[in-house]
Order: sequence, then C-alpha cells, then structure tokens
Amino acid sequence: MPELPEVETVRRTLAYQILGKTITDVAVYYAPMIENIEQNQFIEKLKHETFRKIERYGKYLLFILDHYTLISHLRMEGKYFLKSIDEPRNKHEHVVFTLDNQISFRYHDTRKFGKMALLASTNLIEVMQYPPLAKLAKEATDPGFTKEELYARLQHTQVAIKTALLNQEVICGMGNIYVDEVLFLSKIHPETISTCLTIEDASHILENAHLVLAKAIQAGGTTIRSYTSSLGVTGLFQLELLVHQQEKNPCSICQTTIQKIKVGGRGTYYCPLCQIKKRPKIIGITGSIATGKTTVTQYLRTLGYKVIDADEIVAEHKAIGRAIYNVLTGEYGRKILLDNGEIDDRQLAKLIFENEENRLKINQMVHPIVQQKALQSIYRMTDSFVFLSVPLLFEAGFDALCDQIVVVYAEDEIQLERLMKRNQLSKEEAKQRIQTQLSQQEKCQKADYIIDNSRDLCYTIEQINEMIKEVKQHYGH
Ligand SMILES: [Zn+2]
Repeated sequence: MPELPEVETVRRTLAYQILGKTITDVAVYYAPMIENIEQNQFIEKLKHETFRKIERYGKYLLFILDHYTLISHLRMEGKYFLKSIDEPRNKHEHVVFTLDNQISFRYHDTRKFGKMALLASTNLIEVMQYPPLAKLAKEATDPGFTKEELYARLQHTQVAIKTALLNQEVICGMGNIYVDEVLFLSKIHPETISTCLTIEDASHILENAHLVLAKAIQAGGTTIRSYTSSLGVTGLFQLELLVHQQEKNPCSICQTTIQKIKVGGRGTYYCPLCQIKKRPKIIGITGSIATGKTTVTQYLRTLGYKVIDADEIVAEHKAIGRAIYNVLTGEYGRKILLDNGEIDDRQLAKLIFENEENRLKINQMVHPIVQQKALQSIYRMTDSFVFLSVPLLFEAGFDALCDQIVVVYAEDEIQLERLMKRNQLSKEEAKQRIQTQLSQQEKCQKADYIIDNSRDLCYTIEQINEMIKEVKQHYGH
C-alpha cells in the first residue's frame, strides 16, 4: 500500500510528466471509483482542463486544473501510467485521460479500492474542506505538528500505539511500513496502549517520523510487493528498513532477533529487547497465610484501586477446561476430581500439604499460568500503578515482576490462632502449613512497606493509607 513517501514520489514523477498538458477526453470504465459526482459530469467538466499543479496531503493526490481540483486516493494498489494512446487498454485501467500530446494518462487499480472526486475549486483551503480531507490530522512531516498536540490526540484514543499511528485522524501519512520503523527508532513496543505514553514518547515519535519519511522520500519510497510509482520509478527505501519485514534478522542495535506479531490485524515487526512494552508499575502484596492480606486488598478495592489477585486467577482457571484444570488433571487424573468433574479443593490441599514433592510440582505447573494471566491483565491497564496480590510472591518468583512490595504481617501467635480458627486445623496442622512458607521475618526484610495487621482494623487502615501516599509520590495517580 502506498504511504506518504510513495505518494510523494508519484506526485513528483507525475508533475514532471503532465503539468501544462490539457485533457482532451476522459473515459471511465468503473463508475463507483468516482465518489462525489455523476460519471458524465466528471467527463464533461474535465475536458479542456489543463493540469496546473499537483499537491499532496497525506496519501491524497490533488491535481489542480484550471477550474477544478481532482482528488485521487490510491488506496491499496492504485497506480498511474502514461502510455501511447494506441496502446490497448489493460483491464485494470479504470479511468483514462487523453492528453493533448497524444499520451494517455491512465489510472490502474487491480483491487478497485481507489477513489476520485472532482471539486469545483482550485483554492486549497476550500479543497481541504472536502469531508475525507477535512477530518485528516496534520501530516507527520508538518513542522507545526507539536509533541503536545500528538500527546493530546494519543490520550484520546485508548488503543495500541501501532493502531493509533495508522489512524489518519491522529497523525496523517504513515502506514504499516513506516509506523513499524518509527516505533522501533522511538523504542516503543507496538502494543503499548496509547494513553500510557508520555509527552517525551510523543516527541520521539514525531522526530523519528520526520527522519524516516524524509529518508524514504529521498529514496523514492519503498518497493514492497506491488508498489511502483508511474513509469517504473522504483523506490529503494526497502534496503534501509530496520524492522519491517526483517523477521528473524538480528536487530541492528542489539542483535536480538526481530519478531513479527499481529496488532489490530496488521503484521507488525519489532525488536523485543529495544522495544519493551510499557505497563503500570506493579506493587506486589504478600503475607504469610492468615496474616490478613485479604483485609488489605479489600480495603484497596473499596478505595477504587486495581488489585489483581492470584487466588482469584487460580479459581477462575481451575474451572473445567481452563488452563490450570488441564495441567492438574493431566498430571493427577481423576483422583483430584469430584463426581461432577470439578477439581476437589480438599484433595488438592491434601496433595499440596502432605507431600513436599507434589507441592513443588503443583506450584511449578500453576505459577507460570498465574503469572501469564496476571501480566496479560496488567498490560491492558492504563493506570500508573496496580496492586498484585500473591500469597507465595517470593517463593514463586513474582517479586521479580514487582516494582515495589508490600508485606502484610501479623505476630506469629496471632497468625497461628487465626489459621486454626479459619481453616479448622489443629495446632500441628496449622504449624505445618506455616512452615512451608518463607518466614515472616524474611519476607519483611525484602519489603518496601510493612503493614502490621496484628491489632485492630483502624490501625491497619492507617498504615495502608500511609503506604498509598508514598506509592503515589513515586508513581503518580
Ligand atoms: Zn534491538
């Protein structure tokens, strides 16, 4: 699909070839291509008009004649050719202009997606009022396009940045190829939600868009698949592409293999090391069994904060046919199931707490699933920070994901008492469960914040409020 540099190359080539030439006849072979005027009118009005100037806005060509402006959008496959009038018409040539030098100027489009419109004005300000043009954003190459303006537009479209930059109402002139290149140079992961980007990111995007598009125009555009400009002028920018269509090649900066993914249905190329995805800061919450972690997460939720809870992820994916259900039944078969086919939690607890080997095995199967599901949710969020509550945060290596860690603590005696009461366990059973976990003292040593939940609720809440104040100071609201 031609993008701004390719359309600019077409404009420059055509300017050289058709300016000053007068149209003596027009033939339209595919009427739906003319979008704003009846076909006969289109033909009649264009006769005896002379091409005076060719302008371009984004991916639109604007042919300025004596009394009219012909607007042309090449879409996926549109091309212009100049041929002798004697040359038979190709079946993909849908609009043919005969010029006064006996040359026929032909619009060729294998997919027929291209559009033309004819406006009774040669004044560009008036022409730009034509609805499809009027809704376009400023061009990526426009020096008047400020980082503040792009930032504001990105804040209004909560989609992946790749998708946002393809939207011509956000920034005009870039398609699939150049957006990949610009995001690579700006070190932004293509799936980053546009609202997560900073004003500095917007500034990098604009700088790199200028750079990439200017270089591409200089090289005559990029020749990939079907694009060639008229009269066989072939772009050379494909030789300078850093990521687009470079799948499996090493990144020119870090040598990591370039990867291909789909973003919004479009093939997208990026370097997984240079373009790390932005996400909210993760504040891990943990605490040994029965110390009152849930009290803390419930309070955070009542205040409106996002809490991703590992226990909830386990519960959800332990349902019949889900990921955790599948790995557990794959390993232990029917013996961990109830008659109705669901997982028997009591059997599972028995396996975990009565046999060290099983406990480790189950954790190794379940934790990666929980981690993956948690990250999938977090990467979709646009908050500046999010809480991630995991009982075995340190034991399962979730601490590596966290930017800061909160440990909920209760004095050992209180913990033991609460556990016996809550789970109806004997003192021995309760002690055994506590011992499978890292000691509270070790957890507290690794914490950024400690919430002492040994006393009344007010005392706990006071500490949570203090913790939130500090997190906000670190990461914003
Ligand atoms: Zn790289």
